[in-house]
Amino acid sequence: MGPPGSGKGTQAELLAADLGYEHLSTGKMLRALVKKLSHDPAERAEAAKIEHGELVADELIYKLVFKEIKKQMAAGHGLLLDGAIRTASQARGFGDFFTAEKLWPEVQVVWIALTDKQALERITKRLICQKCGHTVPGAGKAKLAPCPECGGKMERRSDDDPQVAKRRLAEQGTKAHQPILNYFRKRNRALVKSVRGNQSVKEVNQALIRVLEN
Ligand code: AMP
Repeated sequence: MGPPGSGKGTQAELLAADLGYEHLSTGKMLRALVKKLSHDPAERAEAAKIEHGELVADELIYKLVFKEIKKQMAAGHGLLLDGAIRTASQARGFGDFFTAEKLWPEVQVVWIALTDKQALERITKRLICQKCGHTVPGAGKAKLAPCPECGGKMERRSDDDPQVAKRRLAEQGTKAHQPILNYFRKRNRALVKSVRGNQSVKEVNQALIRVLEN
């Protein structure tokens, strides 16, 4: 977990490759729903809220994520959830799911700390590949080079527009995450670890590996 722009996606991608885990990004799943136009118009309309920086309904998140967690666990795969829990009600929803599936002993929560000011600066500089969804941090508008992963076209995300990003930070930033982190701390104080997000990609990756190994 972390505020928008903290590097959740970039770090989850790196860790997933390192650990051989599946990377489950709800933002990426929702963008795919909007792009591939889900057959259900109500679902499509709900997913499209992301373009204005609004959170989508808890039920849609549960529908997308719980099925996938069960599928991956059944196949014996580890999982990295990236941005899947963004409200206190979702924390309870996931908590109940972990209880029902007896997953609590497997759960670790890591917070990537970044101030909203630092986050906004990063958000407005990053670019995303329209084809594969890979994010390039710090690219800025000037460097519209092809995606380093697939050669696709790089663009700014519509919800990375500075006005929309400010709304997202108000609703999904550090302050808004406190009730979520407290929910997990109450469950077990040692469950929530924190790393400093204002470091290079490599340094954050190393810090994450350190806290997860502990
Ligand atoms: P991200 O790619 O992680 O920055 O997420 C992009 C957008 O998807 C967010 O700004 C939200 O609008 C939406 N989103 C992602 N995960 C969730 C979630 N767990 N609950 C509600 N909305 C979400």
